[in-house]
Amino acid sequence: MADPRGFLKVTNRQDRPKRPVPVRILDFKEVQVAQNEAVLKNQASRCMDCGVPFCHMGCPLGNLIPEWNDLVWRGQTAEAVERMHATNNFPEFTGRVCPAPCESSCVLGINQPAVTIKQIEYSIGEAAFDENLIEPIMPERMLDKTVAVVGSGPAGLAAAQQLTQAGFTVAVYERDDKIGGLLRYGIPDFKLEKDVVDRRLAVMEAEGTRFRTNVEVGKDISWDELKKRFDAVIVATGATKPRGLNIPGADLDGVHFAMDYLTESNRVVSGLKSAPEINATGKNVIVLGGGDTGSDCIGTAVRQGAASITTLAIGKEPPRDRADHEPWPMYPKVFEVSSSHEEGGERKYLASTVEFVGENGKLTGLKVAETEYMDDGRRLPKAGTEHIIPADLVFLALGFTGQDSESITEQLGAEFDARTNVARDETYMTNVPGVFSAGDAGRGQSLVVWAIAEGRACAAAVERYLTGSTSLPEPVGPG
Ligand code: FAD
Repeated sequence: MADPRGFLKVTNRQDRPKRPVPVRILDFKEVQVAQNEAVLKNQASRCMDCGVPFCHMGCPLGNLIPEWNDLVWRGQTAEAVERMHATNNFPEFTGRVCPAPCESSCVLGINQPAVTIKQIEYSIGEAAFDENLIEPIMPERMLDKTVAVVGSGPAGLAAAQQLTQAGFTVAVYERDDKIGGLLRYGIPDFKLEKDVVDRRLAVMEAEGTRFRTNVEVGKDISWDELKKRFDAVIVATGATKPRGLNIPGADLDGVHFAMDYLTESNRVVSGLKSAPEINATGKNVIVLGGGDTGSDCIGTAVRQGAASITTLAIGKEPPRDRADHEPWPMYPKVFEVSSSHEEGGERKYLASTVEFVGENGKLTGLKVAETEYMDDGRRLPKAGTEHIIPADLVFLALGFTGQDSESITEQLGAEFDARTNVARDETYMTNVPGVFSAGDAGRGQSLVVWAIAEGRACAAAVERYLTGSTSLPEPVGPG
């Protein structure tokens, strides 16, 4: 284990440093930078190597956290990289964007700030590439079976890598022009630079995974045809159908879904487009919704030079600190502030949207009212409190309502569940034999770590279906 008395000697938590706000908002490069090595080792030494490591259970991947904390503390980088990849295909993604449920489960969190597990994961993920410790893993033998993975987000990529390394012939189909799913065109570079995705894809290509971009299954090739060509099909198409807002004025010029804004900005930052059509420069911006998508809109609008940014939430302001009556493991995740919230803009709570207002078809503002909580739990605009917040742009970051690939039901007869996700049984298989679903496509919009975990588990289910057995890990059941 790491230093048995480490947590007594190093009681302060030091997270990965961030670039200063005035500097980082001048570009789209990652906000966080690498931790000093001595500090990192000290932080790793705080792990208590608990008899029952709750952090394993907090992590959907079941990451072997105390083992690699110990190895980092000892400076055994190659071994740490090996232990990390035993449970996680892509620590360089989760080390950057995961909200780290493992840290909320860290037992040290009972009376000290939790171990900085995420930054240790990040450091191992970077060392793996910087020190050339990542080798393509070639299968011991090729199997006479083929698998199509539809969708190249973290779920599809994890499933594809697991199956390729196990000896299957795997092709990943992606409707976009680049591989990566929301890692590529959802999450902005200030959280995850795209060369981080590209270097992992190069390893996967060397291993033998085939990538087919600009192919929308259901349109460019039918689901039926794909099913005929391959022994198994994995639907990893995500859940990106955006939730709209049904109030007057929603069709005014200036009201956009957040994903349209973010996708375009990511293309511009990657040099795939010269200038954004939805541009916040000099504009008054309102963001509706306080999740990851909303905060990514804030960070993007700040970097584009918005005149003002206001985030509105219908609910009450969440508590900033752990209340005395709130037991561990609620802390430290009671109130999470993204790096974008440090960069600008203001947040307003208890704001009910009433109407988009505009002139000549163009948005000029948003009429809001205070939220009134009714006895039956409904939240309604409070009469007499209406006022207009000036706005040139409103971004709807109100969550997602499931699949936007209806063709899977129309062409294959695969069933959706009540939330328009692709229904599957406990083996990840849909009602169509040989067709599986993983990641957001099956569980609804979630997290990168869950997508990777489902991709891994789905790969095991596919191997069992095609060969009768599997030795691949199955970290989670279908959620
Ligand atoms: P996706 O990443 O959505 O990938 C699905 C892919 O399938 C897409 O590339 C799509 O083009 C493709 N596809 C769909 N239909 C077809 C078809 N018919 N044919 C071919 N291809 C198709 N999670 C975190 O953990 N941390 C974060 O900081 C975070 N930030 C986020 C920010 C934003 C703006 C959004 C929207 C989400 C964020 N998430 C975050 C959630 C996370 O990105 C997703 O949970 C995760 O990417 C899901 O992975 P997936 O592989 O299931 O699907």
